[in-house]
Amino acid sequence: MKKILFNLTDAELAQFVENMGLPRFRAKQIREWLNRGAPDFSVMKNLPEKLRDDLNVAAQTLPLRVVKKLESSDGQTTKFLLGLGDGEQIECVLMRTSYGNSVCVSSQAGCAMGCKFCASTLLGLKRNLTVNEIYAQILVAQWELRTDRFSDKPIRPNGDANNGDVSHIVVMGTGEPLQNTENVIGFIERANSDMGIGWRKITVSTCGIVPGIRELTQWGRPINLAISLHAPTDALRSQIMPINNKYKINEVLDAAFEFSGLHNRQLMIEYILLAVRGENNEPELLNCTPEYAEKLSELLRGKNCMVNLIPWNAVDERDFVSPSGNAVHRFQDILIKNGIHTRIRRERGNDIGSACGQLRLKHTQD
Ligand code: SAH
Repeated sequence: MKKILFNLTDAELAQFVENMGLPRFRAKQIREWLNRGAPDFSVMKNLPEKLRDDLNVAAQTLPLRVVKKLESSDGQTTKFLLGLGDGEQIECVLMRTSYGNSVCVSSQAGCAMGCKFCASTLLGLKRNLTVNEIYAQILVAQWELRTDRFSDKPIRPNGDANNGDVSHIVVMGTGEPLQNTENVIGFIERANSDMGIGWRKITVSTCGIVPGIRELTQWGRPINLAISLHAPTDALRSQIMPINNKYKINEVLDAAFEFSGLHNRQLMIEYILLAVRGENNEPELLNCTPEYAEKLSELLRGKNCMVNLIPWNAVDERDFVSPSGNAVHRFQDILIKNGIHTRIRRERGNDIGSACGQLRLKHTQD
């Protein structure tokens, strides 16, 4: 296996350079390229060509390589299929928005949570990602944005040319971040210190692992927390999210509001709107009937939170359907009437299988 230079400490990189019989300053030059996300050595134009070729044979820059890149038809969303050193594959998504450039990173290869509506968990958990493997995902996105700058496509929704760096991070890709809490925290610390991304521009989304939420509370950084709730009663939630058999809704929300309350942050509640196929193939609402809207309101009344309503994105292997637009609005209207902050999440990258829950290998492998 090739040596991954990004994983080396400064001292180890200096040693590597020395072993190749090179002057010391080469280590510094290489490190600068690594920190900018250089995908290989060919782009390191301040190194002699022969050396670049030698390095390409001997080593690899990042702990992951772009295997495939898909761009949405509007040019605003780019999804990367990334190959890890041991052959596992993960995905990350770059979203160019009017408020900045947001990257959705994966925290695990695969997922063990088994949520009934999600594609990421279909093949089970492979393994946790390392800090470097999570961090390298934002470097891949950063490198892509740099390439944008050399093209003339007006890529922002407001028509501006893209001139930005990665400004926002959401840990909402494949995997359950709070099953890999230590590395996720290490990653966030690093994104903050090395890339200057503010705590408040970073969001971790969890299906509700209570001890993990408590760890975040102890850690104490004012990041955003999102809870994938998806049902307001334990009976219904346990049907669609097995983790609810372990941590009940009240426990999860208590821990989550304790965390978000620490720094007066708004808790994000994610709520997919699910229907099932009923008689005559008509969609039958599952978790988004008016009764459930009332129950959800009771649960959240008076709390500092925002409910993101997410119409379900189709996953072939799953038996749900999306509710009609009318049903979605009726559900939202009840929340609003009850004084609950809510919005309907705009999905990005639907056409390239990168909207929520669609992250999986199939699209990118065939
Ligand atoms: N494991 C974490 C983060 C990954 S999931 C968590 O559960 O929060 C990111 C979000 O996408 C979650 O809210 C998840 O419930 C949602 N999601 C999963 N499958 C979806 C689908 N098919 N359509 C819409 N949202 C989905």
